[in-house]
Amino acid sequence: MIYLDHAAATPVSDKTLEAMKPYFLVDFFNPSSAYLPAKKVAHDFSEAKANIAHAIGAKENDLIITAGATEANNLAMTAISSEAKVLYLKTEHDSVRNPAKRFNSEEIAVDKNGRINLDDLKSKIDDNTELISVALANNELGTIQPLAEIAALVREIRLERLKNGSSRQLLLHSDASQATNLLDINVARLGVDLLTLNAAKVYGPKGVGALYISHDVRLKPLSVGGGQENGIRSGTENVPGVIGFASALTHAKEHLNGNRKKYANFRKILLNEIKDYELINKKHSLDNFVVLCFDGLDAERLIYLLEEREVYVSTGAACAASKGVRSHVLAAIGLSDSEINGSLRITLGETNTEEQIHEAAKIINEVVALERERIRRG
Ligand code: PLP
Repeated sequence: MIYLDHAAATPVSDKTLEAMKPYFLVDFFNPSSAYLPAKKVAHDFSEAKANIAHAIGAKENDLIITAGATEANNLAMTAISSEAKVLYLKTEHDSVRNPAKRFNSEEIAVDKNGRINLDDLKSKIDDNTELISVALANNELGTIQPLAEIAALVREIRLERLKNGSSRQLLLHSDASQATNLLDINVARLGVDLLTLNAAKVYGPKGVGALYISHDVRLKPLSVGGGQENGIRSGTENVPGVIGFASALTHAKEHLNGNRKKYANFRKILLNEIKDYELINKKHSLDNFVVLCFDGLDAERLIYLLEEREVYVSTGAACAASKGVRSHVLAAIGLSDSEINGSLRITLGETNTEEQIHEAAKIINEVVALERERIRRG
């Protein structure tokens, strides 16, 4: 099999699985229990959480552990008042778009590369705006956003508000689910107040994530209970999950540059060897994203035909793909319905070898040629 859908899911490495195992089998104690073995588990949990925080230039207490990025994105929205306005990028994941729609919200436009239109953002910030949410890298195109520039604008507006005697906060949130594998993330450098992390996209376990919160941000719990995670996220800690997350993130950090080079080379091979396509993510993209449009073809059919040859790709977000929904991301960058229908997302990852990439290009060419021939014959 040639797996080219790493934006949807990444396998847990043997090393990470081994790191997690003792916390299922031996050190399974509840970290809140009073006896010594449980205290060791609490210590290990806390150390793993600190390691996750350090990987993004933060401290242990700046993080709330969640059950994935969806929860972290929802939790981020509890930082604002119910009458506040939320601005989010048109291409955000549904786990940002849908909770944002519970507020007075507006979408920020993007250009044809999926990059934020800063003028549109500026024109939409009003006196009630409390949160701006812009993913560090998009999950369908891999587009990297200029977060530091957005953060500078946010700081300017905060200053203006102070001068005008307004006490309304303005926070910058970013979903870094897809970026964590390929970018060296530092919360201070990015200038974000809230940042979402997702273990499932960095070769860690599914259902584990975290929300970074800067010191002056106050969250409200989504559910209440035993008061874990400073009362913000009650429930017995997911010790193996967090141990696995820390192990995976450490690995990702160590291999960042090597992986980027590897994926950039694989991307070049695909673009050279695949025939008759239009490249959709031309600029500002993560190195492991290759989005190709085969105009006139149906990408859903291509996926099915490629699956028969054991090549796994996707059309976009896995959750949207399973519902057969037209991609709001590809529509936002101005693609026509026919271009959206013909677009394939290839996302490279650690499971891939150069040999697989040549083989995948060959199989894609064969499948596309057969499809074009079938259509030509009617
Ligand atoms: N945000 C982005 C950018 C994603 O790609 C995903 C998953 O595909 C999510 C959020 C949701 O993550 P989870 O399903 O792990 O909560």
